[in-house]
Amino acid sequence: MLTGITIVFLGGDARQVEVINKCLELDATVRVVGFDRLETPLKGVSQETLSPGLLAGADVIILPVIGCDDHGVVPAPFSAEQLVIKHEWFAAIRKSTLVYTGIAKSFLKQMSTEHGFQIIEVLDRDDVAIYNSIPTAEGAVMMAIQNTDITIHGSTCIVLGIGRTGFTLAATLQGLGANVRVGVRREDDVARAVQMGWKPFATRDLAANVADVDLIFNTIPTMIVTAQIISKLPRTAVIIDLASAPGGTDFRFAEKRGVKAILAPGIPGIVAPKTAGIIMANTICQSILDEYLLRGDEQ
Ligand code: NAP
Repeated sequence: MLTGITIVFLGGDARQVEVINKCLELDATVRVVGFDRLETPLKGVSQETLSPGLLAGADVIILPVIGCDDHGVVPAPFSAEQLVIKHEWFAAIRKSTLVYTGIAKSFLKQMSTEHGFQIIEVLDRDDVAIYNSIPTAEGAVMMAIQNTDITIHGSTCIVLGIGRTGFTLAATLQGLGANVRVGVRREDDVARAVQMGWKPFATRDLAANVADVDLIFNTIPTMIVTAQIISKLPRTAVIIDLASAPGGTDFRFAEKRGVKAILAPGIPGIVAPKTAGIIMANTICQSILDEYLLRGDEQ
């Protein structure tokens, strides 16, 4: 249980509502900022205004998946007001306070170094990335269906990278009856692909593998679907780039050549906010419990 622990939520989307509900279930004291326009008002929480005093009183601060930008602006889609953590307010956060976010940008990391509080990046964890790969793969398939006039069944799909996201996606496409090719660079990934019944090729040989492809799904966060690759694609091919911004595709050239290329960030939060929220909620609450257990042991 989280009895006696004060958790301050600053902004966030529908996923954060799941985290709030889980914290309430576990009996935490929950204070929220940025949820004043929620359709179904939250019960059992206190709606607050952001201030240094609120930050100083927090045992745990939970920021949205993308944290805050370089000016301290926190996304708060359920609020009429812009939510900004002023630079000097970070000094109010106690060193013992745990600050959760999905992935911390450089400004938040810098604030944590300057003021000594601990940031925990939830999306950095393997288990979370693997759970999140499920809604990501479903969303990628949804986009593929929306943007082609053929079935996934019988189509030729390339998945670039079979890390946590690519592996689930390749398996999902295979389950729908696609011919799946995967671009990898490690021998163990070649072996895994063969075992899974996918056709592996080395990413350096991508150009030689695209002439008859219907769909390319990229999960490699570096420029890989270059102009040279795009020039070899059928004009009907569709590229769905899942890698973090700016993606791994030459979008300018794709547009020039008339090949549909889509950068698709943040899919779990778009297609399955409830599931994505539950994944975050379970992870964050377990992490808080573990941290407090550890602190109890150390005392
Ligand atoms: P991951 O587990 O680290 O997988 C990345 C894959 O890319 C690995 O197979 C890696 O191979 C390969 N790779 C990296 N650099 C490469 C290079 N230069 N050449 C060839 N292969 C390379 O990461 P992930 O969790 O699957 O996430 C992949 C990307 O998708 C990230 O950018 C992540 O932010 C993004 N993502 C987006 C969404 C969305 O909603 N759009 C959702 C989840 C994740 P090695 O193992 O050989 O390094």
